[in-house]
Amino acid sequence: MPKKIENVGCPYCGVCCDDLVVTVSDDGKQILEVENACAIGNQIFHHATGSERVKLPRLRQPDGTYKDISYDEAVDYAAKVLYDAKKPLIYGFGSTNCEGMAAAAKVAERAGAVLDNCASICHGSSFLAIFDNGYPSCTLGETKNRADVIVYWGANPAHAHPRHMSRYSIFPRGFFTGKGHKSRKIIVIDPRHTDTAQVADIYLQVKQGHDYELFDAFRAVVRGHEIPEEVAGIKREQILEVANIMKKARFGTIFYGMGLCHSDGRNHNVDIAISLTRDLNDYTKWTIMAMRGHYNITGPGAVWSWQYGFPYCLDLTKKDIAHMNPGETSSVDLAMRDEVDAFINIGTDAGAHFPIEAVKHLRKHPWITIDPNICMASEISDLHIPVGIVGVEVPGIVYRMDNVPIQYRKVIDPPEGVISDEELFERIHKRLGELEAEETAKGPAKAAPEGVRAEE
Ligand code: SF4
Repeated sequence: MPKKIENVGCPYCGVCCDDLVVTVSDDGKQILEVENACAIGNQIFHHATGSERVKLPRLRQPDGTYKDISYDEAVDYAAKVLYDAKKPLIYGFGSTNCEGMAAAAKVAERAGAVLDNCASICHGSSFLAIFDNGYPSCTLGETKNRADVIVYWGANPAHAHPRHMSRYSIFPRGFFTGKGHKSRKIIVIDPRHTDTAQVADIYLQVKQGHDYELFDAFRAVVRGHEIPEEVAGIKREQILEVANIMKKARFGTIFYGMGLCHSDGRNHNVDIAISLTRDLNDYTKWTIMAMRGHYNITGPGAVWSWQYGFPYCLDLTKKDIAHMNPGETSSVDLAMRDEVDAFINIGTDAGAHFPIEAVKHLRKHPWITIDPNICMASEISDLHIPVGIVGVEVPGIVYRMDNVPIQYRKVIDPPEGVISDEELFERIHKRLGELEAEETAKGPAKAAPEGVRAEE
């Protein structure tokens, strides 16, 4: 009899839907059906048992082809690359569990590496703004149950977080929002008339790259000041209308995305969005939330803040002290300055998503990809190590976009012999320890100079 597994988490976007129902075959090896997931989430599960899965580590040969090797050989290779490098970079982590992230941090510390995650090219600017200005946020449950005004600013959940609107922000009937969509005002602010804008009550077509000015205008109006007739392409009357709705809200949430983080101003756009949220709290209750991308990209921020005090761009090259300075210790900046001499791509695809110049620099040095699938990063790697898919074949903790931890379960076994990220990093950590011990056993390279120390 096929078995239905309930309350399954989706390992794709930051909404972290945990209401999926997955039907697996009698032998527990095949996924037959996935209920409740959106099209993207559905694909992750069906992809797991596809014929193209890689089941052994693959090492690049001199002629450019790949040769299958054992996990022991792959662990030895990775440990030696890290051991020999002066400043290795371990980057990614959007798509793995917190257990894998903690194990990777142990490796980074032992190897004296830079440890960074996809926030570096995504919501890193949010972190900078939050350091400066705080984070008056809430959980998605609070938005669902209380929010009567929702703002999506520079975010397009209809495409990027497909069930966000139906689970938390627009359509669900919450404790104090029993009429669902009818009990909420939806405002979308974006240069493009997106599919999310289609469901908005009010759409403001801000000029691309002029969000800061528009925030400024809202802040001025909320504080009772005059504003020009038009700001950032939006007429004064519309700004006054939206500001009035915001002030009269019972509970509001601003969800924002790459429209703020990737356009001119970056962290300052987020900074002023937070300031507007704070201003509105003089009148009523407002909250703000970053639309975090991958299902567990909030995880490394939580795990590494607990371990080292910093959420991303961690320089552990001194081993006993962590340092963080985005711009200096961020992955793309390090790559562009050619400062790292080995690269581990884990749970992401830097081959596809880094600027090509950064990829070219990184590619001059050993490049290892740890990922369940073939991707652009795996195809330019010296070594590709396959791992189990978290949420499908490997259980673990993930952090939703609102920092709520969720226990993901496994629904099928990984392909025979394929291990988890956590086990892989634990084995690399152990091998690094052995290499250190071997080096120590050899003794100092040169005999210590003879003689007597001055103070003796
Ligand atoms: S909205 Fe995101 S988490 Fe939910 S099913 Fe779709 S991809 Fe998965």
